[in-house]
Amino acid sequence: MKNLVKKNILDLTPSATLAINEKCKELILKGKKIYRFGFGQSPFPVPEKIVEALKKNADKKDYLPMQGLPELRVSIAKHLNYLTQNDYSKDEILVTPGSKEAMYLMHVAFKGDIILPSSSWVSYAPQASIANNKVHWLKTSRENNWFPTAKELEKKIKSIGKKNILLILNSPNNPSGATCKNLKEIAEVAKKNKILIHSDEIYGLLKFDVEYESISTYYPEGTIISSSLSKCFGAGGWRLGFIAVPKNLSDFLSRIKTIGSETFSSVSSPIQYAAIEAYTGDYSDYIVKTRQILNSIGQYVYNNLKSNNILINPPQGAFYLMPEFINTKFKTSSDLCNSILEDTGVALLPGSGFGFNKQAMLTRLSYTDFNGGEFLKNTTNSKKIENSLIEKYAPNVVEGTSKLSEWSKNL
Ligand code: PMP
Ligand code: GLU
Repeated sequence: MKNLVKKNILDLTPSATLAINEKCKELILKGKKIYRFGFGQSPFPVPEKIVEALKKNADKKDYLPMQGLPELRVSIAKHLNYLTQNDYSKDEILVTPGSKEAMYLMHVAFKGDIILPSSSWVSYAPQASIANNKVHWLKTSRENNWFPTAKELEKKIKSIGKKNILLILNSPNNPSGATCKNLKEIAEVAKKNKILIHSDEIYGLLKFDVEYESISTYYPEGTIISSSLSKCFGAGGWRLGFIAVPKNLSDFLSRIKTIGSETFSSVSSPIQYAAIEAYTGDYSDYIVKTRQILNSIGQYVYNNLKSNNILINPPQGAFYLMPEFINTKFKTSSDLCNSILEDTGVALLPGSGFGFNKQAMLTRLSYTDFNGGEFLKNTTNSKKIENSLIEKYAPNVVEGTSKLSEWSKNL
């Protein structure tokens, strides 16, 4: 049998994030010392009360409503209204198996073109191409904190012309670890030009200067928010996410629901019951502490890595940094990462997976290779965490950073 695969699928390869995770596991099994700075997973355990809620609901076996358990949707709407000063009701929330699936459903339903700022998360562009949506990359710069200016966005919109447009924004950002400082100006341009925004707020509670900021506050009628339990509650493997779609776009939501009803039916019942606890309970202590640990480790890596050979912006949120290696002999960022892995055991992802030109020597570093449960237990308050604690509870991050720094001296 020939030509079984559609043209738009032929060029795709397995997601870079999942592939590096598998590759690291393989190398570790072979006995190689690996610093797992490639995969972006929360290192912290799921809070105990949420785990208890999951155990208590293990017997829930019926299919739940396609859109999600009403009580869970009420709790998600309240949580979002508190964070964004909006007025979502349960009818505007759709519960999905991870927010990744919600995004995919959006691409399948959406008729129009997609604007992706580089840097953008690895799966946005492949999802768009699976759904046959054209992607327009919008270049950003280190000087502008890796986010587009309002002017640059407007220019891009004008160049696309009279089509439906969806801009995907992610702040704090994967891969840059930066937070967007000009959400209000971007919202104004979006509103003026009537484009839709998908605001990926999965790292929203992991913003190091703390104040939650959502572009939906400035442009509620044109913003779709997505988030999940994966990053802020440490439950990536539970696969529970959601989107919030404003009332005026209810027809768009109902089409997305139809696609979901023909594909995943409904999200796992016990997980949905447990998620009610996550969105109604008070987890501020957990969030404050985990955020503080990540901030301090991010600062540690930043301080110990930045040099004449490595350009890097300070961490502002999530758990990523984007080191740029200068004066290298490599042709692509992928060659660079392969060589670093070979020489030092440090796994990084190439910037080419995140919308950057493959010749740019940009990489993504995830500083999550530590035992978050141990670190949390030994963090007594939310004050600055001393380097001695980082050396004790995040030794792989410390050692990997030092290996990388040493390696870069020979460039
Ligand atoms: N958006 C970003 C920026 C991410 O880093 C991730 C990580 N997996 C996702 C979305 C999807 O996460 P999930 O499907 O686990 O909600
Ligand atoms: N979000 C994680 C990352 O960027 C991994 C999970 C995934 O890709 O679905 O590394």
